Amino acid sequence: MPDTRFDLAIVGAGMVGVCLALDAVDAGLRTVLIDQQPPGQGASAAAMGHLVVLDSDAEEMALCSLGLRRWREYGDLKRAQWQNAGTLWIAVDDAEQAPLLARQQAFAALGLHSEWLDPQSLAEAEPGLREGLAGALRVSGDALIYPPGALLDLLERIPTSLLTLRIGSPAIEIDDHSLTLADGSAISAGQRAICAGLHSTRLLPGLPLLPRKGQLAITDRGQSTVRHALVEAGYVATTQSGVGVACNLQPRPGGQLLIGASREAREDQKINQPLLGQMLSRAIEFYPSLAQMPLIRCWSGIRPSTADGHPFIGRWPRLERTFVAAGHEGLGITTAPATSQLLLQQILDPALPNHARFDPARVLQ
Ligand SMILES: Cc1cc2nc3c(=O)[nH]c(=O)nc-3n(C[C@H](O)[C@H](O)[C@H](O)COP(=O)(O)OP(=O)(O)OC[C@H]3O[C@@H](n4cnc5c(N)ncnc54)[C@H](O)[C@@H]3O)c2cc1C
Repeated sequence: MPDTRFDLAIVGAGMVGVCLALDAVDAGLRTVLIDQQPPGQGASAAAMGHLVVLDSDAEEMALCSLGLRRWREYGDLKRAQWQNAGTLWIAVDDAEQAPLLARQQAFAALGLHSEWLDPQSLAEAEPGLREGLAGALRVSGDALIYPPGALLDLLERIPTSLLTLRIGSPAIEIDDHSLTLADGSAISAGQRAICAGLHSTRLLPGLPLLPRKGQLAITDRGQSTVRHALVEAGYVATTQSGVGVACNLQPRPGGQLLIGASREAREDQKINQPLLGQMLSRAIEFYPSLAQMPLIRCWSGIRPSTADGHPFIGRWPRLERTFVAAGHEGLGITTAPATSQLLLQQILDPALPNHARFDPARVLQ
């Protein structure tokens, strides 16, 4: 007999699925959260945890901004290791300064504070950066978290009276009536939301998701006095390129320094040593004393990405009562709470159309 106890079945207990489960239960929905592995083992486990507003376009910027606001509203998350670090977007020359000044205006239009630091102010803000930089845009409202800890904190917050966790068996098939797990059970829920990251395609053929592998390294404790997230202005271009590295340094509590970032169109998680070397060299160009800091771990994760760079958030028109939220690339931690808010509005109001920019149906046209 199909299980009909649920108003909402969510496939995928990554950051997106967990944020949605929290909102759904808050709204009174009896929710089942399904994952083939323990919560938070996918891309969300690998992420840097930079809660950052990017300005690639107005809608994405608004999504980031809403995400950050909602992260703050979550309040005290014990394992999230929240740091109000802010971001320094670093310009190496005048050519990189101009787009950052444009970004400052875009932020101001959204009510976000940012300020231009000239070379001297930049050196005072982060004395370990190399000399000769053109300056940086400081975005004070950006923050840093430890994503796996934050995810578990959010999950623990969800009252178990309305949440059922189904861990260990993947969802293997979905049709208009039912969702079938590999263990043979059929989950029958009023609405279904596929938040299975890169693997959402397996359940929703026709929804193209692309792997963007990223590698990270972290130093030993007590090494770093970095205070901000330090990201080179050129980072944004690498988010759109096939393969590339950019300096992206993030302080962790205890004086560790987290080092990113690389991108390549691959799905394997094997460390690509030459690319890791390029990534570290790039970081050392900006922060020379990093060369003396011992690294204790390197790892990789796969960002779920889309061809046009925008996530899929909304109703999936090929199936009844089915929604998808996937493809957030390098912004899924930041935007998960905003994604869940948008999606829940649609789940609760069947008349609400898909948001044009994030509409999953755009790939079917
Ligand atoms: C190296 C790296 C650095 C990053 N840094 C940042 C950052 O600083 N800031 C930021 O905002 N974002 C960052 N990201 C991006 C972010 O990690 C992702 O966008 C986000 O985690 C995606 O979350 P998700 O819930 O969609 O997917 P996932 O976390 O991958 O979760 C999907 C879940 O679905 C489950 N699943 C899949 N298929 C099935 C199935 N058939 N049945 C049941 N369960 C299934 C998986 O087991 C998994 O638990 C980074 C990513 C990487 C790789």
